[in-house]
Amino acid sequence: MRDAYRDVRLYANDREPCAIDLSDNTNLWGMPPAAAAAAAAALATATRYPGVYAQELKAALAGYIGVTPDMVVTGCGSDDILDSAFRALAEPGDRVVYPDPTFPMAATFARMNALIPVPVSMTSDWDVDPKTFLATDAQITYLCSPNNPNGRSLSREAVLTLVAKSRGYVVIDEAYAEFADRSDVDLLAQSDRLVITRTMSKAFGLAGLRVGYAVGAPSVIAEIEKSRGPYKVNRVAERAAIAALTDDRQWVADHIALVREYRERLRYEMATLDTDANFVFVPLANAAEVARRVREKGVAVRAFDHGVRVTIGPWNLMQACIDALSSL
Ligand code: PMP
Repeated sequence: MRDAYRDVRLYANDREPCAIDLSDNTNLWGMPPAAAAAAAAALATATRYPGVYAQELKAALAGYIGVTPDMVVTGCGSDDILDSAFRALAEPGDRVVYPDPTFPMAATFARMNALIPVPVSMTSDWDVDPKTFLATDAQITYLCSPNNPNGRSLSREAVLTLVAKSRGYVVIDEAYAEFADRSDVDLLAQSDRLVITRTMSKAFGLAGLRVGYAVGAPSVIAEIEKSRGPYKVNRVAERAAIAALTDDRQWVADHIALVREYRERLRYEMATLDTDANFVFVPLANAAEVARRVREKGVAVRAFDHGVRVTIGPWNLMQACIDALSSL
């Protein structure tokens, strides 16, 4: 057995059905219509293998982001892309530095690839301190912007410093960038050691189809493609993702606008933190207990050390959450 797996835990199946599930930051309005139709139609061709490296999808994503197709690698969700990137960009025993708290899979993928996870506490205003990060001399710097679980984008200054000064690679996880005012994709022009990961699981509503991607310099992207292996995006997912990128952009934009409207409203109604994502963080001392009790009332939220994270969706679901929390 591989020693690096010693500290990797299997995930408990916490996806027991709950009447209202606000725990995983997916698109609670559903699947965009052209994507749903394309997925249904694509089933007829599912006897065939998909393209080895999802060439057509790469072209659609390249158009969406504004880069060339050789700057895009696709995968089975951005989880797959992060795992492949960590494997491609570091040797066993190298360090991966990341903010604490952040998306917990960063540490897991480091361990799975025999890398050493190095958490660095966030500053009191939910930013990263470049000096502390640089002092770790890590081969990979993982940043998440907007950051999960608090929802704020990192400051542009901190990102700029880390991209300019890091010895190794900087991976910015932009799973929630569509909901924010800023992306750092433009920094790709300044660095060929920057990789930005994105997903179709959130704003584009395709979490169950598992489509993620990364954007970076062609030489780096080719290495991630090698470590990722062939056929990671299935035929149905590829057709749905292309349709979403081509024909559902207005639908997606309309629902992003609703998320933005509701997150403002939630700041007042639930005393949540400022957020640039499709979720809010409610600071609480007894988060696990609160999550357990609202679940008994049919609302699932995600508990963290200092609060609960709530996915933003249709307002009737938000109201149900507000009611459940205020009835405790
Ligand atoms: N990054 C972040 C910050 C996330 O919150 C998630 C989903 N929870 C992912 C990556 C992975 O998403 P997916 O594999 O569905 O693309």
